[in-house]
Amino acid sequence: MDELSSLSIIPPLSKSKYLAGLQCSKRLYLEVHHPELATPPDLATQLVLKQGTEVGRHARCLFPGGVLIDEGPRQREEALARTASVMTDPSVSAVFEGAFQHDGVFVRADILQRDSGPDGNRRSWRLIEVKSSSRVKDIHLDDLAIQSVVLEGAGLLLSAVCLMHIDTNYVYEGGSVDWQKLFTIEDVTIAVANRRIEVPERLTTMKTLLQASVPPAVEPGRQCHSLSQCPFWNHCTKNKPDRWIYYLPGSKDIAERLAKQGISTIDDIPADVPLSPSQRRVKDNVEWISPGLKTALRSIRYPVHHVDFESVMLAVPRFPFTRPYQPIPVQWSNHIEEEPGRLRHQEFLHTEPTDPRKRWAETLIESLGQEGTICVYSSYEEAMMRQLMETFSEFRSAFQSILKRLCDLHQLIKEHYYHPQFNGSYSMKAVLPAIVPSLGYEDLAIQSGAQAAAKYYHMVFVETDWVERVTLQASLLQYCSRDTLALVELRRILQMKVEEHYGSKGT
Ligand code: SF4
Repeated sequence: MDELSSLSIIPPLSKSKYLAGLQCSKRLYLEVHHPELATPPDLATQLVLKQGTEVGRHARCLFPGGVLIDEGPRQREEALARTASVMTDPSVSAVFEGAFQHDGVFVRADILQRDSGPDGNRRSWRLIEVKSSSRVKDIHLDDLAIQSVVLEGAGLLLSAVCLMHIDTNYVYEGGSVDWQKLFTIEDVTIAVANRRIEVPERLTTMKTLLQASVPPAVEPGRQCHSLSQCPFWNHCTKNKPDRWIYYLPGSKDIAERLAKQGISTIDDIPADVPLSPSQRRVKDNVEWISPGLKTALRSIRYPVHHVDFESVMLAVPRFPFTRPYQPIPVQWSNHIEEEPGRLRHQEFLHTEPTDPRKRWAETLIESLGQEGTICVYSSYEEAMMRQLMETFSEFRSAFQSILKRLCDLHQLIKEHYYHPQFNGSYSMKAVLPAIVPSLGYEDLAIQSGAQAAAKYYHMVFVETDWVERVTLQASLLQYCSRDTLALVELRRILQMKVEEHYGSKGT
């Protein structure tokens, strides 16, 4: 439904709409005229937004005496009036969430700090945008470019344009968080000035395209993932064939080149086009079992452990000797196959807002014991244990022994097996339905690691009543347990395939 029957009145552009327009003109058009076509943000995105709001609130601690313009998004006129009034008060040293409008664009500025101009008069302001990221990104410069154009257009004198972000080198030592060390402020005035030059022309183009009765004709491609995944991806790709050329794995250069030549599906790729081995497997589209799979499976020893970890990453660290965004392990699941067909399950979930790491490590080490291969499905488990070894010397020798027993089934499958339903992806979400169609995640309340992290954060760090807490605990345990049961089944089916293919037992 791309045709518009009538155009609604277009509200002022916001900075987020301007940034959407920089990513893709069609995205801007759909955000303004057809927001209902967007896929709602998933739990992981909601967690990022929640942490971003928390970070923004903490950032204000560094500007005592600042005044918050707390009028909501639907109180645009009131916010504009209050900002104008507050800024005329010379005793106000900083304004948070100030509202400004100029040339049909409305923005809220995170922090404006009153500054002394060259003449000593405190008439100029330092614009500071707060981000929960760990570095300055291109999109932040564009964000500040549109804001500074609007602010200066509205009559403000800006002495500097800055980005305030998290410093991941900060180590929290317990007690109160040192906000001065958690945040770093970078002056990006010059970098932003270069982008400001392009703002007026871009705004004119955006306003013109928004007057059209149909969205611009833009084919989905690289731009759809240039910021984060565009929320209109499902809408824009709903009519694409299952073997759309853009689904070819690896660099998108080749897919874009072939699309320009009129090749729309992977099956239409001419035989003489050079492809990588993984792209060739997707093109061939047949099941493939390497001769090495038998040997690889043979190296697995009983009792076989099948392990998965879940963790949470906090922008503002809460546990001593952790950094911002350091993954903190909170949960593990272990399905242990003592001998072929004899399975038992152990698990751990930390449910309190206290440091989970020691108890997590102690219980895991006990569950893994001294014997047998430990199957995982990523390099993440190894990285997590190495991180804990560095922090807690008492676990070093146990984890060193455990690391020698790891077998990464993700790597093993990548090297030795391919199924047409993988569509070039070796993620668990692609591999499991192809190899073990009877075992999925559709019946679970939590269906991905990112969702698990978001739910965990909500359960432990956000107020929840006990009924909600119990429900969340059950969902988290179910999800992690399903992940490790999936490993058991993956290994079992691969073993069967080897036996069928090569006619002898692999283990
Ligand atoms: S999915 Fe891609 S093509 Fe469609 S609106 Fe988003 S960025 Fe544009």
